[in-house]
Amino acid sequence: MRAGFSIARLGAVALLMFALSAPLPSRATDGPRPPLILAIAGRTCQIQHAVLAAAIPYVSLREISQCTGGDAQLIPARGLVEARVAGVRATLWPWGEPVAIVDGLRQPELPEQPWIWDNGRLLVSIEALEALTGGRIATRFRPEDLPIRAEPVDAFRQDMGPRGTGAGLRVLVDPGHGGDDRGTADAEGVPEKEITLAVGLRLAARLRARGFDVRLTREEDVYPSLQERVQMANSWDADLMLSIHCNSAPRKTARGIETYYLSRVASDPRALELASFENAFDQQQSTGDLLGDLLSEVARGVQEETSGRLAPIFHEHLAGGVGGENRGVRKAPFFVLAGTTMPAFLVELGFMSNPEDAALLRDAGHQDRLAAALASGVEAIVPWLRTRAAAPAEQAKP
Ligand SMILES: [Zn+2]
Repeated sequence: MRAGFSIARLGAVALLMFALSAPLPSRATDGPRPPLILAIAGRTCQIQHAVLAAAIPYVSLREISQCTGGDAQLIPARGLVEARVAGVRATLWPWGEPVAIVDGLRQPELPEQPWIWDNGRLLVSIEALEALTGGRIATRFRPEDLPIRAEPVDAFRQDMGPRGTGAGLRVLVDPGHGGDDRGTADAEGVPEKEITLAVGLRLAARLRARGFDVRLTREEDVYPSLQERVQMANSWDADLMLSIHCNSAPRKTARGIETYYLSRVASDPRALELASFENAFDQQQSTGDLLGDLLSEVARGVQEETSGRLAPIFHEHLAGGVGGENRGVRKAPFFVLAGTTMPAFLVELGFMSNPEDAALLRDAGHQDRLAAALASGVEAIVPWLRTRAAAPAEQAKP
């Protein structure tokens, strides 16, 4: 058998290579060649458009879809591809972090480089197809018969590039505290409100560069109340709210990064303590049961569930991008997240009570790394944000 590539590379893919006796076509051209034969969910498909790129075979998603009784179409306004393949409905986001959702629910684990654009066609790797269809695929072909694409033509990316990943999505960036509310402070007396603003402005710039529509709750040293911040998010109908804070703890060794989402119930006593601190300034100004009022307000069920689902994805990219200690995802009753109708996170970028964290938080280079990591966290959940943006009426119901 003339194996032109490594089977191991395809992992679990059931790849049966035929020892065909036909003469080999030229490998570097699109010249006539035997069609690729794929068996999917009991059907035999002859695929015309298939290429080999970086030793991975890719086949036309549309051809596969049509062969199995479905279709695939690009929906540029929403920046996604909807396809029905072998009875499953797959939604792909063909740029940025590769993500797919199957039947509106399942997020399959995709192989590296799951798809490429080749002369305007979306080609999906065999392995990715297997992930999408839950393994209902068997292939019979010789990979060496496929035309080779050393550098796949990526016309789609070029088209989408200037618009950016975030086109059409609204993110409200909320630098915590401000004005008379200094937040916590480090040993040198630098207040939290300065760090949150510095990172918030950098994050806004980075998100705008990626095509997001961005507003800030504050761009200078002023204090909008937590209720006002929530109202900004809701009246603008933001797709995501991101509140930026820095931590503090009596134990000076505590350090690292955390993502919180809103819950009426705190995940642990420390989370509740933190929420009390972040809520404190507004609580002093208020006579009534502010938290109780806010929590009884809007759509919190939907918000908590959605944010809880997205927070780990967001946080993985955030923590991965920054490095250092990862304290994970927690939940707590934060005023500034309560009453928001969109997914909302509060991030604690590090501990100002820890000398090493404090030095990093004051450092402009680190602030920029934080902003970049936050932006990549936002990018990672873009597919879900788009789903929400496409169906606001459904999601906004209390
Ligand atoms: Zn804070």
